[in-house]
Amino acid sequence: MVETIRELVEIESPSDNKPAVDRIAAFLAPKFEGLGGRAQFHRSNDFGDSLQIDFGGGANRQPVLLLGHYDTVYPLGTLASMPCEIENGRLRGPGVLDMKSGIALMFHAIEALRAWHGALPRPVTVFLVSDEEVGSHSSRAITEALAKESAGVLVLEPAAGLRGAVKTARKGVGEYRLRVKGVAAHAGLDPGKGHSAILELSRQIAAVSKLNNLRQGLSVNPGVIQGGTRTNVIAAEASVGFDVRIKRAKQAAGIDRKLRSLKAFDKHCKLEVTGNINRLPMERTAGVAALYNKAREIARQLNWKLAEAAVGGGSDGNFTAGIGIPTLDGMGGVGEGAHAVHEFIVVSELPRRALLLAGMIESV
Ligand SMILES: [Zn+2]
Repeated sequence: MVETIRELVEIESPSDNKPAVDRIAAFLAPKFEGLGGRAQFHRSNDFGDSLQIDFGGGANRQPVLLLGHYDTVYPLGTLASMPCEIENGRLRGPGVLDMKSGIALMFHAIEALRAWHGALPRPVTVFLVSDEEVGSHSSRAITEALAKESAGVLVLEPAAGLRGAVKTARKGVGEYRLRVKGVAAHAGLDPGKGHSAILELSRQIAAVSKLNNLRQGLSVNPGVIQGGTRTNVIAAEASVGFDVRIKRAKQAAGIDRKLRSLKAFDKHCKLEVTGNINRLPMERTAGVAALYNKAREIARQLNWKLAEAAVGGGSDGNFTAGIGIPTLDGMGGVGEGAHAVHEFIVVSELPRRALLLAGMIESV
């Protein structure tokens, strides 16, 4: 498994580099076909190609969908400063946790099931998307269509924390941009004539911050601001990008309406709001809880207490859970530092993660 993960990590695949992402797709297709799957590329002009592999097996059972992504947040060349290597039982490297170890787990769980039973006990669809780290715009519709045909969805995103909890709830995620148009003027000669877009923006940011309701799991973060040209010019333009997180699907409409109906404090400034809630929350529905109970039962046979966690980050599991398909997330590698220089997985966790996945493929 370590060798498979190393192969994948050493093919760098940043979301915004189509040739690089297509390279890892081209590497994975024949690898999964070697296990008896039928590979199919979903071509995209703007992003890398996504890869679907269908495995037959176990007559008359609905397929289970194994969902993952091979794009990473790391630019080409990151391997030079973040080489893929083992140190103290930890395998490091860009994307090793999020989520190239998850792809390797899919591969080896399917391989093991075939070796054990001679054939897969049920049909399995593997879907690996090219653009998860940038919002899944090219793959979302395919993910949802495949989920609708499946008995359940197992998402091989990293487990939660070093205790390796699976994820039974995720927050919904939105991204909004507020642009302010003011009136420029010379800050020295005509200070009274301008209407500062920066001043208006700062008042808007303060107003939007009041929408935070952490107790109800709703948060709004002004993460990026831009504006102005020179210190001696009253700014004509300024903008802010907001990250929005919600715990419940029913919170989406309210926060969307509040952001879209912001009113300018300075009547000479104009506001424009764009964006949306891209991923609805993955809520812990009865279907999600049932999958978790199955996973816990499989783990118990190994004297392993498999915990569950609710997390703030979104994944493609939000899409499949959002359309009502039972989904269990965080089935992938155990480690820390996703998207960070110290990203690693714990090597000794790999066998039981693969076993858990194989057990879930059989029993979902
Ligand atoms: Zn991920």
